[in-house]
Amino acid sequence: MTLNNTTVDPAEVRLDKFAGDMLSFRANDFGYPMNHKSRLIGFYRWFAGSGLNLMVPNNCGDPFDSSHHHVKINTLDFEREVIELLGPLYGFDKDNIWGITTFSGTDGNNHGIYFGAKYLEKKTGLKPVVYVSESAHYSSMRLADLQNLDLSLIPSNVHGQMITEEFEKAFNPERPALVIYAMGTTFKGGIDDMKAVNAILAKYPDTAVFRHVDGALFGGYMPYTEYRDIVNRNVNHFDSIAVSGHKFFGMDEPAGFFLTTKEVRDSQNRYDISYLNCSMPMINCSRSAITPLKFWWIFQHTSKEEFTEQAAMMLENAKWLKNELEKMGWPVWLEPMSNTVYFKRPAQSVVKKYDLAPDFDERLGGELSHVVVMQHVTKERLKVFLDDVKAGEI
Ligand SMILES: *Cc1c(COP(=O)(O)O)cnc(C)c1O
Repeated sequence: MTLNNTTVDPAEVRLDKFAGDMLSFRANDFGYPMNHKSRLIGFYRWFAGSGLNLMVPNNCGDPFDSSHHHVKINTLDFEREVIELLGPLYGFDKDNIWGITTFSGTDGNNHGIYFGAKYLEKKTGLKPVVYVSESAHYSSMRLADLQNLDLSLIPSNVHGQMITEEFEKAFNPERPALVIYAMGTTFKGGIDDMKAVNAILAKYPDTAVFRHVDGALFGGYMPYTEYRDIVNRNVNHFDSIAVSGHKFFGMDEPAGFFLTTKEVRDSQNRYDISYLNCSMPMINCSRSAITPLKFWWIFQHTSKEEFTEQAAMMLENAKWLKNELEKMGWPVWLEPMSNTVYFKRPAQSVVKKYDLAPDFDERLGGELSHVVVMQHVTKERLKVFLDDVKAGEI
């Protein structure tokens, strides 16, 4: 197609239309925890001019194993820097941290469960039992199945938290325990009471324990709030944590990071692979070299104060939404420290417009939906949402 001597690529025409459609959905995407205020435009400008698009950098290798320098085309140094930058937010000491950037929160949980199981097996010669609340994100259940581990699914209370008494009943002190703490359950945003569960574990000092935190969403903003101690391993003594990058931190595609200690890394099979010139303790061989650069870019261009402001705004807007729905007499709940407001499901047209996720809980009157208040979910948009909820009722 030729227009005014300019050649128009039909592929771009189609992509432009597609991008326009996507952008029109962006403002009303309330149902899932994506941060639709990605600020990577500067990164793309740099990248397009950098020449890196002419090659395929690949982070196959351990960012903390200096022998990876034999393989040149990677961003492992940036990856290590990102992990070392993130570690202190979660109470990891700089000299006792190991981690990687991941493909997603699920990838991080996969590493938490795999590393945890291997750590416990090495210590005790036994395979652990995985304990996780039934309200936790399904990835932990899928991954325990994938890794052929015994799973003990613990009932949760009406707030979406693991019931501590049920955990104690299910606990088998004869087997090592791999406990997964849900740091924000998917639908209700409940947070497992780590202190209470840890108190039970303390009654069995002879049982080997590994604690993994699934902090895919809440683990992102928590360090920037007054609740930061919850994700501080010096306070809650967890061994690893997985966080998504595309939720709070504003990565523009699925990504995340996994943090643990050197001790845990050292208890893994290192798979010293001669042809890679590197130890390969992590699950994947090829890994994204762009993800660490994007994370690094985000941290170079977003100050701690800005993240703190974003987190405060999300939590404030969540509280505000809850209050406004309450004023309307609409059944609504918001768990402490949570940005996820859940409520009686509104009319189908509203569910559709805002892409709201459905759930069902008889204890709360049946059909529910939630709004995950992320950076792009502003008060102005929530006002329109509230009007829509109201209008849907007529
Ligand atoms: C989103 C989420 C996951 C899954 O993370 P992905 O990055 O989508 O793979 C796991 N656990 C929790 C608590 C989540 O919120």
